[in-house]
Amino acid sequence: MTVETTFASLALAEPILRAIADAGYTTPTPIQAQAIPQVLAGGDLLAAAQTGTGKTAGFTLPILHHLSTKAAQAKPGRPRCLILVPTRELAAQVEESVKTYGKYLPLTSMVMFGGVNINPQFKALKSRVDILVATPGRLLDHLGQKTVDLSGVEILVLDEADRMLDMGFIRDIRKVLAALPKQRQNLLFSATFSDEIRALANGLLHNPKSVEVARRNTTVDVVEQSLHRVPQAHKRDLLAHLIKHHDWQQVLVFTRTKHGANKLAEKLIKDGITAAAIHGNKSQGARTKALASFKDGSVRVLVATDIAARGIDIDQLPQVVNFELPNVPEDYVHRIGRTGRAGATGAALSLVDDEEMGYLRDIEKLIKCSIVRVEIEPGFVPPARVELMSDARPPRPAQGRPAPRAGQGGRPGQPGGRAPQGKAPSGQARAGAAKPAPKPGPQPASHARKPRPQAALFSAKPATRGH
Ligand code: AMP
Repeated sequence: MTVETTFASLALAEPILRAIADAGYTTPTPIQAQAIPQVLAGGDLLAAAQTGTGKTAGFTLPILHHLSTKAAQAKPGRPRCLILVPTRELAAQVEESVKTYGKYLPLTSMVMFGGVNINPQFKALKSRVDILVATPGRLLDHLGQKTVDLSGVEILVLDEADRMLDMGFIRDIRKVLAALPKQRQNLLFSATFSDEIRALANGLLHNPKSVEVARRNTTVDVVEQSLHRVPQAHKRDLLAHLIKHHDWQQVLVFTRTKHGANKLAEKLIKDGITAAAIHGNKSQGARTKALASFKDGSVRVLVATDIAARGIDIDQLPQVVNFELPNVPEDYVHRIGRTGRAGATGAALSLVDDEEMGYLRDIEKLIKCSIVRVEIEPGFVPPARVELMSDARPPRPAQGRPAPRAGQGGRPGQPGGRAPQGKAPSGQARAGAAKPAPKPGPQPASHARKPRPQAALFSAKPATRGH
């Protein structure tokens, strides 16, 4: 073991150390211990760090130090530091951190994102702004209207750069870069390193120092991962059962579609479990409110899509559930990184239908380990009626026979249905070892889904399907 670094030994200004002490932090996290001296030294930085490692303070603290010790004065609408982030939630949280750590400094900050009225932002830009935290789209709107001037930026941060590229922001980022002065310090943070990220880093960073805290593309080790094999049509009932059975008080659940998030939240509420959905179609006000209720414990379950959940920062979040597996394997790493943060342990459970086995194989390849298959406890009784997925088409009637009614065609244990998942022989519980049960006659409703619309959101190649 090396000698432990302390915040005091990192030579940060006294008002920053005081704010850190107020926040209750005693020692820097590994990313902070590595990144802070590099940023203070003034060069460019390439940092591989997942959310939950303390990376926000890793760049915010030395930036505050720089800006407070260098003489230059920010002017109205002309920030000295620009922090670009992919989502509104992350923008709000990063700016909150800036305020927290900078509370004893005479520096000002502003957060800027889309989906809200632009007028208050115009107004805020008429005052001095030292640190601007922004999502790329809204920042470009302001640049177009000349309400913000980026010519005074001394430090640029691209936070969660991999996600910004996944979300298709590369052209917006390039336009923003063109508005910055050539002479500046660049810090790039990313959880994963694709060829695209490397290309962006090569064009942006000059002789960067690199720091890395988690192995690349690996799952946070402190998260206990498991999965249940379960037909899609049973997932909602199973999840309600699990929440009650385990008495989970704070669960973040990921769905692949916004519609699926709404339907699931509605179902849980119907079952007497407090729940809220958070996704891109919700207003910013609704998203903020849902997140606040989840944080303060008045809502037990937050159902989120990948993009909306990005940046959700909750200390000690004990349980994440993947209601559906993501089709981009890296998203699995991002999702389960919501738990097991800042040294806490956490659990991530995935509910996996036969159709998702291809996604599962891609995820296991990426994380280089197999996720433990756990049989569903005997206490769970599958519903008597198999609901059609809301985005499913009714099964086509087979030639000469009427279509089975929902509740008949795909019932486990019935002719034409699948083997009961919870009672599968152990061989069937292993990925790859299990062959899906033959499906004579009409297809069960859960196999009649439309292609998943979210695939189009990502630039990454969609994973191959398991069938
Ligand atoms: P981040 O990876 O920046 O999203 O941070 C994850 C969480 O760790 C946040 O809730 C921070 O408040 C917390 N955190 C950051 N630095 C420290 C530290 N040195 N000690 C304890 N907690 C920290």
